[in-house]
Amino acid sequence: MQATSKAQASGLGSPAAALLDRLLSQITLAGGPHETIAVRAPYTGATIGAIPAGTVADLELAIQRARAAQTAWSQRTFAGRARIFLRFHDLLLERQDEVLDLIQWETGKARRHAFEEILDTAIVTRYYARRAQRLLRPRRRKGALPLLTRTRELKSPVGVVGLIVPWNYPLNLAVTDAVPALMAGNAAVLKPDVQTSFTALWAVDLLRQAGLPPGVFGVVTGEGPLLGPALGERVDFMMFTGSTRTGRLVARQAAERLIGCSLELGGKNPMIVLADADLDAAVYGAIQGCFASAGQVCVSIERIYVHESIAERFLGRLVERTCALKVGASLDYSMEMGSLTGERQLQHVEEHVSDAVEKGAVVLTGGRRRPDLGPLFYEPTVLTEVTEQMQVYAEETFGPVVSVYPFASEAEAVERANATRYGLNASIWTRDAAHGATLAPEIRAGNVNVNESYAAAWGSVDAPCGGRKESGMRARHGAEGILKFTETQTVAVQRLMPVGTPSGMDAGLYARWMTRLLKLLRRIRVLD
Ligand code: NAD
Repeated sequence: MQATSKAQASGLGSPAAALLDRLLSQITLAGGPHETIAVRAPYTGATIGAIPAGTVADLELAIQRARAAQTAWSQRTFAGRARIFLRFHDLLLERQDEVLDLIQWETGKARRHAFEEILDTAIVTRYYARRAQRLLRPRRRKGALPLLTRTRELKSPVGVVGLIVPWNYPLNLAVTDAVPALMAGNAAVLKPDVQTSFTALWAVDLLRQAGLPPGVFGVVTGEGPLLGPALGERVDFMMFTGSTRTGRLVARQAAERLIGCSLELGGKNPMIVLADADLDAAVYGAIQGCFASAGQVCVSIERIYVHESIAERFLGRLVERTCALKVGASLDYSMEMGSLTGERQLQHVEEHVSDAVEKGAVVLTGGRRRPDLGPLFYEPTVLTEVTEQMQVYAEETFGPVVSVYPFASEAEAVERANATRYGLNASIWTRDAAHGATLAPEIRAGNVNVNESYAAAWGSVDAPCGGRKESGMRARHGAEGILKFTETQTVAVQRLMPVGTPSGMDAGLYARWMTRLLKLLRRIRVLD
């Protein structure tokens, strides 16, 4: 592993006080004194600023303002709403360096991984700005009686959407579900993670500069266990991204209130490298899949199953490439992996590796903290000889640690890939892409990438992206990513005669005619 020392990285600086003050002014505060929560930079441990610990009164005010603003917002035309998001898209690309610095200060990830957030945010914003009207337009449906019943299906906004997001992708997770919710005519209230609130506030500030009216998109910062349930108690739909443990609480509350919710949760994502795979490409894909954002990506690869005939060569190259990764703190594009984001996460990663080693796993590279690089750095780590008794085998690590297992047959690889409570992302590597595509439906995961680790499915924003099993419910992206923020209404206009027995007709005669008609329709298919 090539390391950059703390001294080399000392030009990190810190965010300008004026910028942080402007961002703090985006938060809804109900007045009265507020405690504050310090935000520390993972790269250095230094405090970069403080956010207010929001209260339930702040949330109530944000939701009240959102409700007041929602009607006028929903009455704007799609084109009017889209103009604001396209302006946001342009401003985001122009001012990316400002938010790239903020993302790095708050998460400690490498700049190349922070840039993934810019790309994703811009692409999803453009997609919904251009597509929302088509996806939500009223649709003609077959009426109860041909020619006599004119039926249309309408979509209307649910009202106020609550959004709760984690710290690992603080820009794109704060924006890319909010955009379809808002394009559908809803208002929204966001609760970002305490560690990364400034990045989320930057996005909301930019949306307001792009023309989003006051009140339509509120933000309250503070602790999840207090604000999360209070938000879920008051909104009309909950959009949650985070751990499976918290997602369950959100779902339980939504079920109790009979409101909709959408959950994007954890994963223990497998990669299968078939015997005919292009080894260099598969190793490159593994490096991206395992170590992007120091493995703190929901779709990260944490298990690799490689065909026994190529396992040794694959492992040799994977270890060589992992050792050569440039790891360190820098606000330019020179580093290939950054830091972990929080002490709790670092301890969790350490615990997984030490538990595995104690029980007989072999560390081929990595397996150590790197305090010489910064307080939260951990080396990219490759493990073998991992067994079911080890925590790292089945639990989500959410760090730069991958376990590699050989397999003898494709059936075995598929069975082992599926032997998990999660079902978020999977990856298959083969020179025979058609075969990979045939194998993909056998993997029980919401996204399966052939010859990519996660970016092909995630980046296909016209298709749904969501988890199966304990990885989530419903999906983001595509039609599903906006339809979930709407309610459906069927409007049926009846003409000339009623749907049931016509006035004055004998009910028995009507029943006989209808029976004959149904038998006829069963044969001729004309009106299906
Ligand atoms: P977490 O569940 O602890 O926290 C996520 C958010 O929930 C934070 O904003 C937190 O403040 C809030 N929260 C905490 N307690 C709450 C409560 N009782 N009610 C409502 N909200 C509450 O998750 P984390 O550990 O910070 O984030 C990492 C997890 O997120 C990983 O499991 C990762 O896989 C998952 N994740 C999933 C996706 C996806 O798209 N599937 C994307 C990113 C992260």
